[in-house]
Amino acid sequence: MIKKEPLIFELSSEDKRAFQLPHLDVPAEKDILDKSIMREEIKGFPQLSENEIIRHFTRLSQMNYCVDIGLYPLGSCTMKYSPKINEKIALIPDFLNSHPYFPEELIQGNLEILKITEELLCEITGMDAFTLFPSAGAHGELTGMMIIRAYHDSKEERRKKVLIPDSAHGTNPASAHFSGYEIEEIPSNERGTVDVKKLKERINEDVAALMITNPNTLGVFEDEISEISEVLHSKGALLYMDGANLNALMGITRPREMGVDVIHLNLHKTFSTPHGGGGPGSGPVGVRDKLIDFLPIPRIEKKEGKYFLDYNRPKSIGRIRAFYGNFLVVIKALAYILSMGPEGLKRVSQIAVLNSNYIRKSLEKFYYLPYKSPTLHECVFSDKWQNEFGIKTLDIAKRLMDYGFHPPTIYFPLIVSGALMIEPTETESKQELDEFIQAMRKIAQEAKENPELLKSAPHKTPVRRLDEVRAARNLILKWSK
Ligand SMILES: *Cc1c(COP(=O)(O)O)cnc(C)c1O
Repeated sequence: MIKKEPLIFELSSEDKRAFQLPHLDVPAEKDILDKSIMREEIKGFPQLSENEIIRHFTRLSQMNYCVDIGLYPLGSCTMKYSPKINEKIALIPDFLNSHPYFPEELIQGNLEILKITEELLCEITGMDAFTLFPSAGAHGELTGMMIIRAYHDSKEERRKKVLIPDSAHGTNPASAHFSGYEIEEIPSNERGTVDVKKLKERINEDVAALMITNPNTLGVFEDEISEISEVLHSKGALLYMDGANLNALMGITRPREMGVDVIHLNLHKTFSTPHGGGGPGSGPVGVRDKLIDFLPIPRIEKKEGKYFLDYNRPKSIGRIRAFYGNFLVVIKALAYILSMGPEGLKRVSQIAVLNSNYIRKSLEKFYYLPYKSPTLHECVFSDKWQNEFGIKTLDIAKRLMDYGFHPPTIYFPLIVSGALMIEPTETESKQELDEFIQAMRKIAQEAKENPELLKSAPHKTPVRRLDEVRAARNLILKWSK
């Protein structure tokens, strides 16, 4: 493990170079270029040799953690391994160099790829149409809510409220609020699912939609979703499903059959795009037929054997971003879906659920499990038993880093105090899961026997425990004083 790496400025020393140019045999630039456009020396610019630069950045990269190093069990984030072959396919020069301003005649193949991907996502979810434009999950939610608003507007209904269960993902209330709706929270029952009785009390003609995360953030499948959709539809409201957790459902069940009207997916979670570094992502939105007219423009259509972009859609919510979405992310998703096939995708979900339940079963005697309902792709423990020794979730997460693992999601979902939300995904082997389980069991034991060890963790990382509030608020992004 690398303990400390100086800044590149600190490694610099005068007159080192990473390149060697042949002797100049033409007039020097200062003799032919206009002086006013020439920059003088850049002050403080680091000067290093080639291997010093390579070593510096390689060492920095080794101080980071990523899926290519080991298990990354962040709940709700689906940090699975994305096959490198899909990355390679997206980097084929003809895709990479497609300019978004190319005329339609020159991008027939690209349009076909987008169309096929839309159709496959329809097949996987059962929805009637998809748009691939939204850039991420939350952007998909916003697009979906705008579609719902446009739908109600078209019927001249001014519905004001969106219902959101307390176990929903945090972006759901934000997106609904951003779309101009008031939020009303629906409590969970003791099984961790939506309390349908409470829903029936709250539903009326003022409700535009319910936004449900399914499986919800406890990893529990909403098994009363058909009834939930009937309750909503009986009052003219729509059912929005946050489908970012599709990794648990593919090939097993389809949102359409649950009565879902609008859904977004996260291609960068389920469909082979590495994420967590800030993008690019893709959050396609699928709808039922009655909502197709409201989808963002342009739509990809086909006439006389040729694809074209249809902007003439008067009921559309309009453009939601430039061009056609994150095209290369769509390529990766398509390559992934086609290489896995229907059986492969089903197996992904089965193993994701199996892996999560293996962890749950192996840790349930060591960590408190606040909800006992069966879970799918993730499981949520809490720090309740460790509190007895003065240990909190944060201490457990920090200590896990000493064992070489990325910590799980912590303190979320909010309905579990001191939550530890673990999603292993299907791409982990039994050996890797066993090592993680061993580390978690050891930490539970250390909490009892040597709580100080946890409170002062991590001990083996290049930087020790940070003041997280100060680290987030007092960013120092500049080298020079
Ligand atoms: C990740 C996630 C989102 C948000 O997706 P982004 O791409 O990060 O905007 C929304 N809902 C759920 C359930 C998620 O897991």
